[in-house]
Amino acid sequence: MILKQIEALQVFLEKPKNIVIVGHRNPDGDAMGSTLAMYHYLLKKGHQPTVVVPNEYPQFLHWLPGSNDVCRFDKQNKQSQRAIKKSDIIFLLDFNALHRVGVDMQKTLEKYPNDFAMIDHHQQPDDVAKYMYSDTEICSASQMVYHFLEMMNDVHLIDKEIATCLYTGIMTDTGSFRFRSTTSTTHKIIADLIDKGAENDKIHNNVYDSNSYGRLLLLGQSLSNLQIKPEYKTAFITLTDDEKKRFSFEKGDTEGVVNYALSLKDIVFAAIFIEDKEQGIIKISFRSKGSFSVNQFARNHFEGGGHDNAAGGKSDLSMDKTIVKFNSLLPKYKEELKVSYEN
Ligand code: 5GP
Ligand code: MN
Repeated sequence: MILKQIEALQVFLEKPKNIVIVGHRNPDGDAMGSTLAMYHYLLKKGHQPTVVVPNEYPQFLHWLPGSNDVCRFDKQNKQSQRAIKKSDIIFLLDFNALHRVGVDMQKTLEKYPNDFAMIDHHQQPDDVAKYMYSDTEICSASQMVYHFLEMMNDVHLIDKEIATCLYTGIMTDTGSFRFRSTTSTTHKIIADLIDKGAENDKIHNNVYDSNSYGRLLLLGQSLSNLQIKPEYKTAFITLTDDEKKRFSFEKGDTEGVVNYALSLKDIVFAAIFIEDKEQGIIKISFRSKGSFSVNQFARNHFEGGGHDNAAGGKSDLSMDKTIVKFNSLLPKYKEELKVSYEN
C-alpha cells in the first residue's frame, strides 16, 4: 500500500474547491461507482465537483445517481476542458497511468498545472500524483473511496446516493462478491452500505437484468465462437466488427462475456478478442484463476495491464494474426497454466 500526503489533502479540502474527478477510458462499474460516489461526497462537503470521463459508458450504468451530471470528454469537450481549467485539483480514480484516459484526454492532463490525487487498486502506479492512496490488495476503487472517507472521518456522511454508487462499484469489480479480492472487510462495508440505503436487489437488477434482446444474441454469437485449448487450460472468444454490427452492438454489451470462457471446468485462462475497426485495434480482455498473472501476460505481449486475475490489452494486428500470436504464446506458459489453480 502507498499512502502519500493524505493528511495534507485533508487540509487542502478544508476550504471549498473546484474539483474534477476522472475515471478511465471505457469506464466500467467501478470507475463510475467510485467517481460518482466521490462526486456526491465532495458536493456534500461544499465543493464544486465535476466528473469527467473520456468516453461513453455502458447503458446499464446510466441509472446511477449523478449520471446526468457526468461530462464526456469526447462529446462535451469544451465543457470538460473548462471544468479542468477551472479546477484546483484533479482526482484520478480507478486507474494509475495517464495513458489510460486515451490519447486526447491524456494530452490535456499532461499539461495540467495543479496537483492530482490518485485513488487506485492497480499494479505499478505511475508517479504523477502529489496525493496518493494505492493498494493492489483491495478489490475495487469504490471500496478504497469508502476507506478514504474513513481517513477523512466522514463515513457518517455516506447517504443513499453515495452508498448506491459504492455498492455498484464493489459489486461489479468483485463479480458480485465472488473473486478472491472479496474479503470480510468488503462484506462489512457492503453491510454498512445497505444500512445506509443501498438497495441491493435494485442495484443487481439495474446492472445485470437490463439486457437488450440484441445483447443476448451477441452473447449467443460469442459463445458459438468459443475455442478451447485443453492442453493449456485456456479458452478464448473472438468477436468481429461485422458480428457486433449484426446484433446492434452497444457499449457495454460485451462486458462480462469473457467470464463464460472462464466458467468452463478446468479452464484457468480466458480471453476475449473484440475487433474495433474504428480504432483499428483488437481490444482484449484477459481473465485467470489462481497464480497465472494476466497482468504480466498483457504487459508482456499486448500493451496492456490490470490485475493478476483480470487485465486488458490490445493488438494492432488483424483478428486472424492476433489469434495466431496468442496461440503461439501458449506453449511458453504451459507449466504455469498447469499449476495455476488447484480445486
Ligand atoms: P476489462 O477486461 O474488464 O476491460 O479490464 C480488466 C482490468 O484490466 C481492469 O482493471 C482494467 O482497468 C484493466 N485494463 C483493461 N484494459 C487495459 C489496458 O489496455 N491497459 C491497462 N494498463 N489496463 C487495462
Ligand atoms: Mn476497478
